Amino acid sequence: MKTTLIICIFASSFGALYSSNAKEVNNQIILTDSVKIDPVCKMKVKQSTNFKSTYQKQTYFFCSKVCKLKFDKNPEQFLKK
Ligand SMILES: [Zn+2]
Repeated sequence: MKTTLIICIFASSFGALYSSNAKEVNNQIILTDSVKIDPVCKMKVKQSTNFKSTYQKQTYFFCSKVCKLKFDKNPEQFLKK
C-alpha cells in the first residue's frame, strides 16, 4: 500500500521534470505579478499574503510570520546575492 503511493509520487514528479509543458507552467507562475518569492526561504508566496514588510521602498512577501520576523531583524542578509 505504502510502496504503491511512493511509486506514484515518484512517477508523477519524474514526468513533470521531463515534460516541457510543466516547465512553461512554472515560468508563468514566476512571471505572474500575484506570485512573489519569499526572500528568506525562497518559497513562492501569493501577493495577497498577510506577511509582508516594506524595506527601502520595496515590499517583500513572506510565507509565514517566522520568515517575516527574520527579514525584519536583518533585511540586508536576505537581499544580498
Ligand atoms: Zn518563508
